[in-house]
Amino acid sequence: MMRGSATIGTTWTVDFDLDVGHGDLRPGGTQSELGVVVRHATRPTWLLGWTAWLFLVLPARAEDGGRGLDVYFIDVMGGAATLIVTPERESVLIDSGWPGNEDRDPKRIVAALRAAGCERLDHLVTTHWHVDHFGGVSGLSKLVEIGHYWDRGLPEDHDPAIDYPEGPSERDPLGAAYRRASMGKRTALKPGDSLPLRGETKAVVLAAGGRVLPAAPGSAANPACAEAPSPQPTDKSDNARSLVLRFRFGKFDFLDCGDLTWNVEQALVCPSDRIGPIDLYQVTHHGMDISNNPALLKTISPTVAIMNNGPRKGGSAATVERLRAIPTIRAAYQLHRNAGTKPEENAPAELIANRGQDGGEFIHVSVRPGGERFTVQIGAAGATREFESR
Ligand SMILES: [Zn+2]
Repeated sequence: MMRGSATIGTTWTVDFDLDVGHGDLRPGGTQSELGVVVRHATRPTWLLGWTAWLFLVLPARAEDGGRGLDVYFIDVMGGAATLIVTPERESVLIDSGWPGNEDRDPKRIVAALRAAGCERLDHLVTTHWHVDHFGGVSGLSKLVEIGHYWDRGLPEDHDPAIDYPEGPSERDPLGAAYRRASMGKRTALKPGDSLPLRGETKAVVLAAGGRVLPAAPGSAANPACAEAPSPQPTDKSDNARSLVLRFRFGKFDFLDCGDLTWNVEQALVCPSDRIGPIDLYQVTHHGMDISNNPALLKTISPTVAIMNNGPRKGGSAATVERLRAIPTIRAAYQLHRNAGTKPEENAPAELIANRGQDGGEFIHVSVRPGGERFTVQIGAAGATREFESR
């Protein structure tokens, strides 16, 4: 696998190669809704009219009545864009993909929002200041109304406890675009903060700016730390400063660590665990092996892992192997097959959303009311697998 770094403009350095795909916005996102409509097809056609429109406009409902929580892992070709939609249809996007490519990534995000039945984006969270995580803001803010911006802070916030080794500078076009779009509606998050969501969905910040949530007084030592690996050299990049959020919906827990790296990952679970068991894990840092510390994986022991890799970014064979070593994981999905590793160093074909170079297919997780069960589906029409929360 090719590895290195690239400098974009004067300020932005990204970990690996910039995937320049040629994917266009794909239609989709209405087939599952259409599936619901089809189940009503035995009614007289004169009764169908408004009912059909209701199901086309509103998102799919859980079959056992009431709405659940939806999570979409949007394919932004090795960047990050994860959309969470609560039962109240409040929308939270974590990271906004790459800039450029005629707004390919903002268009894919808007398609997922529409598939979830949302007209606007209520919250945009940016985990850290790398271009594959906030580069899409400029294009996205022109395509859809964004209610509030949440991030790990900007240099002008003047928090003496946090540094900004990679900006973003006000002179950088993307840094300037982010500031323009978020002016007057932006908040910096700290460990322990929560997003102000309506209803029963809770989103808690576990790490920000390289700091982790303090351990609760009297918390037990984590046995997984006895076999924790050695620390790696201090990561001076913005990755180590990523926001970490845990979403909780009834029994269901989802963890998104952005591009957090080894040593801070370990600080989250050692000597005591601040995270708890996780049902759905976004494989950190696109599946790169300088993240996904085995002590963290063993501690959170997820049931389903979803990797937002690109065809030539992330998806490291070592990470795939580490995930296979976690006995609780029943399915480890990938947004792309890694073109640089062997087939056996990838997920099984049926768990890979995009086989071609262009991509564009999302992975949709639908959590039932109460959070006790969830399904994972590739795109709007792929096969569905069901899992139980722990
Ligand atoms: Zn990244």
